[in-house]
Amino acid sequence: MRMEGEVMDALLVVDLQADFMPGGALGVPDGDRVIGPLNRCLDSFARRGLPVFASRDWHPAGHCSFRERGGPWPAHCVAGTPGAAFVPGLRLPPGTPVVSKAADPEREAYSAFDGTGLEALLRRARVGRLFLGGLATEYCVLYTGRDALRLGFQPAVLEGAVAAISAPDGERALAELAAQGAVLLDSEEVAGWKEALRS
Ligand code: ZN
Repeated sequence: MRMEGEVMDALLVVDLQADFMPGGALGVPDGDRVIGPLNRCLDSFARRGLPVFASRDWHPAGHCSFRERGGPWPAHCVAGTPGAAFVPGLRLPPGTPVVSKAADPEREAYSAFDGTGLEALLRRARVGRLFLGGLATEYCVLYTGRDALRLGFQPAVLEGAVAAISAPDGERALAELAAQGAVLLDSEEVAGWKEALRS
């Protein structure tokens, strides 16, 4: 039962999109390895009626972050294309609120909070602790975690459910978030961690 004033645990799935899978336009090594752990966490949250949110990179063609425009990345996650679709097999519950980022052609946005309305969605759902999994650890997960901390949410990063473009950068990102106050949790433990999360 949820009482008034109670804060909720919520899960945010960051950018589990086809172009970020190995072999995709901007493939993250081992990006596919996070699908299973995330699905187990999604199932666990769904079983307990806890809210789930998803973010997606949602660029217009010719986005300023693309190499053709002098940006750092190959073209990826162009809105409406198969590469921008969520990974097949990702078990997002029906009706999961989705926020789209970096849809402005002239502006990059790594954080799921950046210009998306996510903060308002989380506040409306009375979210306190925000579990984070997805891609890529040292970019969109890191920037999302920083914003979560800045905005007063309690980020809990699901180790085993995140993957980095560069492994050392990913380690540094997790260390930074932990040093700033984020909690690092084993995704498998969270998926089976019924009693602790039900409290
Ligand atoms: Zn992007």
